[in-house]
Amino acid sequence: MICEMCGKEATATHRVEIEGSVLRVCEDCRKFGKLLDPLIAPAASSVPVRGGSRPASAPFVGARRRTDERDVFSEVPEMELASDWGKRIRIAREARNWTTEELGKRLNEKKSLIHKLESGGFRPPDSTIRKVESLLKIRLRADPAEAG
Ligand SMILES: [Zn+2]
Repeated sequence: MICEMCGKEATATHRVEIEGSVLRVCEDCRKFGKLLDPLIAPAASSVPVRGGSRPASAPFVGARRRTDERDVFSEVPEMELASDWGKRIRIAREARNWTTEELGKRLNEKKSLIHKLESGGFRPPDSTIRKVESLLKIRLRADPAEAG
């Protein structure tokens, strides 16, 4: 390629505007005019950026977390019991004409434990509460309305 400014053979030329005319010039002569092709590498800035094809695969992150939260929730330690939960056990037991011993057998617990339960002196684990509730068809847990 020949520089149109100085006539020298050049490996690469630049398009510049010099005093109203556009010339292809060498590296040396480029500074005399206003550069029209800022980048010699032609395609770099003309490739359109493809936007909008990405977000489709994102929303998985939350799903697993939910499961974890539910696991934690199921381990919530102690149910809130009605203030008279011991009495509720006794009343339900007596309504069935069961002795404490019999109730103990059905719950697979000791008679002495039943006494403690009915006096409210021992707060059994939630699993036992559920057993008692389902056996006697009663509810030992506090009603939301009752709390207040
Ligand atoms: Zn030149």
